[in-house]
Amino acid sequence: MRTSRRQFLKSASAAVLLPAPAIAQGAAPKVVVIGGGFAGASAARFVKAYDPQVSVTLVEANRTFTACPFSNGILAGLRDLGAQQFNYDHVAAAGVVMAFGNADAVDTQARTVALLNGPTLPYDRLVMAPGIDLRFDALPGYDARAADIMPHAWKAGEQTLLLRHQIESMEDGGTVVIVAPANPFRCPPGPYERASLIAYYLQAKRPRSKVIILDAKDSFSKQRLFQNAWKALYPDHLEWISLSQGGKVNSVSPGDMTLTTDFGSHKAAVANVIPPQRAGAIAQKAGVADRSGWCPVDPGTFESKQVPNVHVIGDAAIMGGMPKSAFSANAQGKVCAAAVVALLRGEKPVEPRLINTCYSLVAPDYGITVAGVYKPANGVLADIQGAGGVSPIEAPASQRALEAQFAEGWFKTITSEVFG
Ligand SMILES: Cc1cc2nc3c(=O)[nH]c(=O)nc-3n(C[C@H](O)[C@H](O)[C@H](O)COP(=O)(O)OP(=O)(O)OC[C@H]3O[C@@H](n4cnc5c(N)ncnc54)[C@H](O)[C@@H]3O)c2cc1C
Repeated sequence: MRTSRRQFLKSASAAVLLPAPAIAQGAAPKVVVIGGGFAGASAARFVKAYDPQVSVTLVEANRTFTACPFSNGILAGLRDLGAQQFNYDHVAAAGVVMAFGNADAVDTQARTVALLNGPTLPYDRLVMAPGIDLRFDALPGYDARAADIMPHAWKAGEQTLLLRHQIESMEDGGTVVIVAPANPFRCPPGPYERASLIAYYLQAKRPRSKVIILDAKDSFSKQRLFQNAWKALYPDHLEWISLSQGGKVNSVSPGDMTLTTDFGSHKAAVANVIPPQRAGAIAQKAGVADRSGWCPVDPGTFESKQVPNVHVIGDAAIMGGMPKSAFSANAQGKVCAAAVVALLRGEKPVEPRLINTCYSLVAPDYGITVAGVYKPANGVLADIQGAGGVSPIEAPASQRALEAQFAEGWFKTITSEVFG
């Protein structure tokens, strides 16, 4: 949602007053944000922009952020990792105090965050945006060591380069197998964009090879658009095997590069295993994650349903219909920032509307899109019927090319808003 400073202040000034505002009590209120990705860095910057009086500290494990959106292009040799990387100089210049290190413990009674081998930071409000952890206990045979042989590449960086290297080194005739997880997971269209761009590469450079998706689902995001495009562009280079066709992988064996389903086993030259996921570990430690591994939140303020004064945004949170995307994470960061400032002032937060748009590239000049608009309803963020949509099923090549350009423009815009 694009809440301008003016809109925010206007609605905030009209809002009902609540007791015990931290700002009115004298000392500058303290907001700590854990995780400097699309959600957390957005929230930190927007709290500071909405109220410069608030002291904002952003705790981030790495000095360089490596963005996942567009990282599938690296796998097809279309992009370098450097194009995905950003530092926090501009975030700091915006007045956010950077604390580089791992948030190791949250004391929700004392309202403090302890960094591993670092300081303990007090907060009035904590925003948690740790993204995802891969569940190395969910798929027999797949653990952190297996990921060195069968990369997930679902956190961009070394894993992306490893998968790229494997694809590039593969002999012609080999099969690339992508294992796609059940919902919910980070970036619902991501495995299918990945398969498309790998097929694009194979068609040109390894024409006797193909990519197979073994899927734990029977349907996926932008399915008709992807499948129509695959039929037209990659009829011999891409195959999707759904859950009901025997696509669900029950175990993997990195030693002999096989993946086993109920219907038999598949031998891969390259295996990209995207395992089930959950909220980043610190969310479990802080007690904001429930048994699903994700964090239930109030859909208006993103305050945890389990722990007061702690907000959770981005991939780590359960957001009802809103998908786990960088676009969503950025929008949630802004809305959460407005809610946090309002709550610190003792004011009632404005009920938000949020937008998500996910672009996917099927080829470098072939883009498709899904968009949705969401509002709080029945305790979650619900899709506003009729407000979103997908790219037209039939469209000329010029429109697909234009959508690919929009995708590129979106990446530049979001990364300059968050890190620029
Ligand atoms: C291949 C791929 C393609 C994608 N393409 C798109 C796309 O085209 N469009 C789109 O909108 N989205 C896309 N996504 C999804 C997008 O990357 C995520 O939804 C987004 O990154 C979520 O933002 P986040 O801030 O919640 O998490 P992240 O961006 O992962 O940020 C989390 C941050 O928290 C830090 N952190 C975690 N724990 C701690 C701790 N204890 N202490 C300190 N720091 C910590 C991490 O270091 C990290 O920097 C894609 C994802 C993948 C994998």
